[in-house]
Amino acid sequence: MRKPIIAGNWKMFKTVSEAEAFLAEVKGKAEVEGVDSVICAPYIALPALTKAAQGTKIGIGAQNLHFEDNGAYTGEISGIMLKDLNVSYVIIGHSERRAYFAETDEIVNKKVHAAFKHGLTPIVCVGEKLEEREADQTKNVCNVQTTAAFQGLSAEQAAQVVIAYEPIWAIGTGKSSTAADAEDVIAYIRDVVVGLYNQETADAVRIQYGGSVKPNNIKEYLAQPNIDGALVGGASLEPASYIELVQGA
Ligand code: PGA
Repeated sequence: MRKPIIAGNWKMFKTVSEAEAFLAEVKGKAEVEGVDSVICAPYIALPALTKAAQGTKIGIGAQNLHFEDNGAYTGEISGIMLKDLNVSYVIIGHSERRAYFAETDEIVNKKVHAAFKHGLTPIVCVGEKLEEREADQTKNVCNVQTTAAFQGLSAEQAAQVVIAYEPIWAIGTGKSSTAADAEDVIAYIRDVVVGLYNQETADAVRIQYGGSVKPNNIKEYLAQPNIDGALVGGASLEPASYIELVQGA
């Protein structure tokens, strides 16, 4: 009943012209009935991508936003600006932003509210570091991050959040979580949402797995009852691979 969502996270890759060439190649192919296909690109590629994706089933997302609408925040981009470009999604709290740009759970929560204020669907990232996994803290970390991210959201908003469970040790390392382990944590995260809201809301929330997802392993994840898609870095950069990911979903 939940629609699978495959989102490519390009990170700091691709010029505007490379982004345009990519979209031209995946158009019509990375579009499957019953699957949400989303490309999260660097800010400067968003105007070209949202134009090129018009009339397709491909949604365009940003990888970050500022939580204020306007102001003296040199170098930042707000939800108003993204909405004006017809951007539909925004990744919030990616582990790289938490690690390199000091994003706290509180900032993540403010950004989630800013996304809803401007009609953007947030893709909220949670996940544990290797040492946290080894210390058996995975579920605790996911509980704390998820609870903080949802603070102050209505049940109606909460139901629209996309969560990406990304164990940090699996990102860009080729060491993906087993499908069974990912399912175990993701089922737990869904239970956290039941506790915060109710079963109906938690049943509506889509939860992706992310971390070294490739065309050859995506089916294993999506076969799990609680895994509703994938957030994909490296394997989303090549058109052929991205098309396979969406078609494999
Ligand atoms: P990866 O990145 O697919 O390259 O592991 C995932 C992510 O960071 O979202």
